[in-house]
Amino acid sequence: MPKNAEIIACGSELLTPQRTDTNSLAITDQLNLLGVEVIQKVVVGDDRERLADAIRGALKRAEIVVICGGLGPTEDDVTREAAAAALNRRLVLSLEQESILIARFRQINRPMAKNNLRQAYLIEGAEAMPNPHGSAPGQFVSTERGALALLPGPPRELKPMLENELVPRLRPVLPPQEICVRTFRITGIGESDLDALIAPVYGKYTNPVTTVLSAPGDLFVHLRARADTRAQAEALLREVGNPIAELLGDRVYSTDANESLEMVVARMLRQKRATVASAESCTGGLLAARLTETPGSSHTFLGGFVTYSEVQKREVLGIPGDLLAKHSAVSEPVAAAMAEAVRKRAGSTYALSTTGYAGPDGGTHFDPVGTVYIGVATPDGTRVTRVRYTPDRWRVRTLAAQSALDLLRREMLKSSR
Ligand code: AMP
Ligand code: MG
Repeated sequence: MPKNAEIIACGSELLTPQRTDTNSLAITDQLNLLGVEVIQKVVVGDDRERLADAIRGALKRAEIVVICGGLGPTEDDVTREAAAAALNRRLVLSLEQESILIARFRQINRPMAKNNLRQAYLIEGAEAMPNPHGSAPGQFVSTERGALALLPGPPRELKPMLENELVPRLRPVLPPQEICVRTFRITGIGESDLDALIAPVYGKYTNPVTTVLSAPGDLFVHLRARADTRAQAEALLREVGNPIAELLGDRVYSTDANESLEMVVARMLRQKRATVASAESCTGGLLAARLTETPGSSHTFLGGFVTYSEVQKREVLGIPGDLLAKHSAVSEPVAAAMAEAVRKRAGSTYALSTTGYAGPDGGTHFDPVGTVYIGVATPDGTRVTRVRYTPDRWRVRTLAAQSALDLLRREMLKSSR
């Protein structure tokens, strides 16, 4: 039977807007690697009764319970007491921990306050987990169904203890269980269209679990498969992931969860030993910012111009005044001329341009607010794409930059075929 975990983050500061619980992310990461699914996590203030209550509930729901924080020396650190109460066990002074504490304070040349002795108390039957980065030891308690662990709050103390002490103690308690994940990062399709396309495939499976996350113009599909062996988990991922990959085609820009679209573009440019430059109007530099986001961009990005006014389009890029007068600045011919001009000026392999109505004012009957022309100049010609977004200034600008990067990606895909 696969085992589940619950995480309890303890600390009143975690219930304020100033602090957020990040420890549970590190804990979840390690538990997942062990094949353990986190089914619930809770944040509780420094209150012994509430914490004991939360621990009792967690022990009923999950085989593995990991509590972090509240192991300090002061009265408001109540995790030891609460965990002991929830388990119906006593706290006992560990002479070994007492001498470790005394030695630690001697080493850092500080007198040990009486309160610190609280940290030498262990839950009856618990094993201490050494803390080389702080004074509070962690604790590991075997329970009937699994285990309960106490970890210190400060992340720099928690992380090494998690990896070096907790994981090796959990591994023998757990059945062989593997979780494998597969991610698709997608652009160029809306969330509901995406779901309509792939739900018929993943909807038939509860394992792998499929989640769709969305940011403007940027979607993630995550598949998580759980099985006794890695080979079985990977087979499940293939069974569901391969048909999804086929349906999505080149809308998938990466299968690496951490690789953004600008990283993909930079990687492809580098592989081709190609360069890019930009001439932006409505995106106001967003595109150049993204093209320079990744380290090493200097190899691929030559430069960018933000030519917001018509005068600048004429003077900096040399766009002919009669072209602007005839078609207006937001038009296909001007987008093409901007891309071509900057490509020539920078001597780059590719060039991107944007010109559009971000709003809220402006726009015409044919090109209302939200319309953007995106130009891509390449060694074998220039293409302009007209896109229309919902007229929200922030979205128009963000999505136009995203589309421009994607159009460049697609150009590069085409030329490598
Ligand atoms: P404590 O062990 O409760 O005394 O926590 C010491 C410090 O660790 C707190 O002041 C926080 O800065 C940090 N901390 C505690 N819990 C967490 C958590 N869940 N995530 C991130 N930081 C934490
Ligand atoms: Mg605390």
